[in-house]
Amino acid sequence: LTKKFVQFDTQNPPGKEKELAQYLEEHLRSLGLNTKLLDFLPDRPNLFAEYKVKDKGKNFLFDGHLDTVPVGNISLWTFDPFSGTLKDDKIYGRGAADMKGSIAAFIHALETIMDSGIKLDGNVCILLTSDEEISALGTKIFLKKGYRVDAAIVGEPSCHEVNVAHKGVARWKLKTLGKSTHASTPEEGINAIYKMAKVLNELEKLAKTYSVSSKEHFLLGKPTLNVGTIVGGIKDNIVPDFCEITIDRRLLPGDSVENVEKEFYQILSRLASEDPDLKFELKLYHSHNPAETPINNPFVNLANSCVEKVLRKRSLVKGFQATTEMSHLVEAGIPSIILGAGDIKVAHTVDEYVQVDQLFDCAKIYALILLEYLSSGQGL
Ligand SMILES: [Zn+2]
Repeated sequence: LTKKFVQFDTQNPPGKEKELAQYLEEHLRSLGLNTKLLDFLPDRPNLFAEYKVKDKGKNFLFDGHLDTVPVGNISLWTFDPFSGTLKDDKIYGRGAADMKGSIAAFIHALETIMDSGIKLDGNVCILLTSDEEISALGTKIFLKKGYRVDAAIVGEPSCHEVNVAHKGVARWKLKTLGKSTHASTPEEGINAIYKMAKVLNELEKLAKTYSVSSKEHFLLGKPTLNVGTIVGGIKDNIVPDFCEITIDRRLLPGDSVENVEKEFYQILSRLASEDPDLKFELKLYHSHNPAETPINNPFVNLANSCVEKVLRKRSLVKGFQATTEMSHLVEAGIPSIILGAGDIKVAHTVDEYVQVDQLFDCAKIYALILLEYLSSGQGL
């Protein structure tokens, strides 16, 4: 299954998830699931599938995404990134780890249970979203449509570790505005780059306060701030009338974008009061909330014990290093974890791969979680 899914080019942008969604819909329907392509973006649906056992009873959700990041420079790849080449117990290709391998494991786990004749005491849903790598709103839209589940696994590549939290991210464009004039008479203008230099100085100080502050999440570490890009001016002999930077701020659970923005405004307002020529514009252009399921949530314990049983080794919960759609689930009050095959470290790289033995272990873990979570009498 993983090989087959990798062979669909769902690089985002542009996405083109529809063909894979239709293929999977057909496949899941043939297994006996109720399926539905849900409107999300034009020609880019979310696929919802349900193995309905009971009208009442718990609903469990496997949450995944159909799109991948771009392959980048294809000549650097050892194998065609859309071949799904199997070599030395690894399947290579864009999306093998992030996260078509886990989607295959969702399906394999469920299919095995269905074939075994074991009757689950609840329903199993699979949601496969489009555009996770850019907007990451598929799950949010799904929940907005009124679907409700009682627990969820987001199948991002976690090397079989149970991840219960991830940071959020917010990004701003910050502009300083000046006044252009000929470079030979700079005193007649206002140099926006010099004004930005003052701002940058303060932002660097602020970033340092985060790195030494005692504010730290036990799994995610400290909040961070990075200025990633800068542009300003148009020509060497003109005093620049604008300079623009982008700021990336990683948020811990409990942080809010509003509070961070307030912090920026305090600094900028102080600078502007010290220097009346310092004019600025701050604009938030992207944000994704942090997520956390309490470590002592019964579903976390159940998942952790299933990992331990399958892998026969101790499993410690972790924090995930990237943002995921888990945040939407957590905001809807759904106990959720990130758990999947493959390593996030190879996820967006050349020669992305997933190990075949990891895929099988992952499917076993998923199957055991379904059995324990949805077994009569033993469920949570
Ligand atoms: Zn992913």
